[in-house]
Amino acid sequence: MFDAVVIGAGIAGASAVKSLKNNGLNKILLMDRAQDLAQGASAHHHALCHPYIGRGASRLQRLTQLAFGAVPEVWGRYFEQTGVFHLAGPRFKEKKDLSEHLQTLGFDTGKTLAYGATEAYAEFGIEQTGTWFADGGYVNLQRAAQETLADLPNQDRLLGVEINAIRYVNKVWTIDLADGVTHRAKRVFICAGYGSSELLEGLKLAYPLKPVRGQLSYLRKKDGIQTCLPRVPLTSDFYYIPYQQEDQVQKFILGSTYDEHNQDLSPWPASHEANLEQFTKLLGPITGLEIEDAYVGIRCVAHDRMPVIGPVPNYPGLYVITALGSRAVMWTALAERLMSAHLKQELNQASFFAARFLLGDLAFAGFSDDLVSAFSPARFLAGVSNSKPTLPFSSQTR
Ligand SMILES: Cc1cc2nc3c(=O)[nH]c(=O)nc-3n(C[C@H](O)[C@H](O)[C@H](O)COP(=O)(O)OP(=O)(O)OC[C@H]3O[C@@H](n4cnc5c(N)ncnc54)[C@H](O)[C@@H]3O)c2cc1C
Repeated sequence: MFDAVVIGAGIAGASAVKSLKNNGLNKILLMDRAQDLAQGASAHHHALCHPYIGRGASRLQRLTQLAFGAVPEVWGRYFEQTGVFHLAGPRFKEKKDLSEHLQTLGFDTGKTLAYGATEAYAEFGIEQTGTWFADGGYVNLQRAAQETLADLPNQDRLLGVEINAIRYVNKVWTIDLADGVTHRAKRVFICAGYGSSELLEGLKLAYPLKPVRGQLSYLRKKDGIQTCLPRVPLTSDFYYIPYQQEDQVQKFILGSTYDEHNQDLSPWPASHEANLEQFTKLLGPITGLEIEDAYVGIRCVAHDRMPVIGPVPNYPGLYVITALGSRAVMWTALAERLMSAHLKQELNQASFFAARFLLGDLAFAGFSDDLVSAFSPARFLAGVSNSKPTLPFSSQTR
């Protein structure tokens, strides 16, 4: 019997595998319907990462600050620390106002700095007020997921498989595959992006998840270097990443589009146009651009836009890591840390699988129950509280 079956070979599955291994749970069976590792949304090479700046100290903002702090430890090997310049909205035309706002939100003023438009132009090549996240950057999600998952023995990576049913029989999780083979495990991690929705429905768990198609445009400027192009990654409602400059050719990425309830993976000319339009609105028309490539992915987004991470109440040993939206780097770093702490406590309490998230040592790192309930799988289940542990249910099957 396996310690765990992990369904989904993307960055969420990789974070689950890491947290299991951190606890010595090495008998892991990975399953994916794709033929190779990290072929879904995690086939992304430039996933930006910086904390969210809200209007007030919202749960989202506090959580992204904590999650961002976990990124170096979890994904540091794949992290390109370029710094990220976040363009301020119309509320913050003056550096002074933005600076005060950042302080109110509790940002580290040594690493998160407000810039006025003139200074920003001199430093980064963009004439706009904004916040410089010196610790920001991007992660190659595909490499992070592939290298983490490739560590599992070949025979424990089942790729190109279809799952017929997930059942809980005699306190054991049973996964029936379409080819007639059945696998058993003490735990199941559902990390299947938007595909999680269907798997959870099969377990009579209705989660309000939706697919959101997004396209990035990889561009090259082929008529010489343009010195007025911004020199650092920019974010706001769109993003820009200069990722290569050699032999008189500048390359950068623009994105991204946001098409709800669409799962078409083919690149659309209209999406390239939309990406370019956003960019020229900011910088004016730019000559000599050529589209080199596109990345198209399907984000999984929950109705409240928060991730779904943790144990499912009343389903002992069932865990979910999904709904990562456009913050997979931070949410999977958070998931890895929290799941590691949770599994450690679970193992210390013999066979007890707590329904709520057990925070362990992380309780001292700023995580409180109100923050945990913001992403707990319990929040969508009627009548279930995240603050009360529930005993494992005793029925034979579910
Ligand atoms: C345009 C765009 C821009 C983005 N930018 C950023 C960014 O800047 N920063 C950031 O942090 N994040 C960003 N993201 C988000 C990030 O790419 C995703 O959130 C992340 O890759 C999702 O990882 P995942 O492991 O949950 O899903 P996936 O990588 O999609 O993996 C899910 C896996 O589950 C498998 N699967 C599904 N259903 C089943 C089933 N029934 N049985 C077996 N296997 C199944 C799939 O084949 C797939 O391999 C962006 C996403 C998009 C689309």
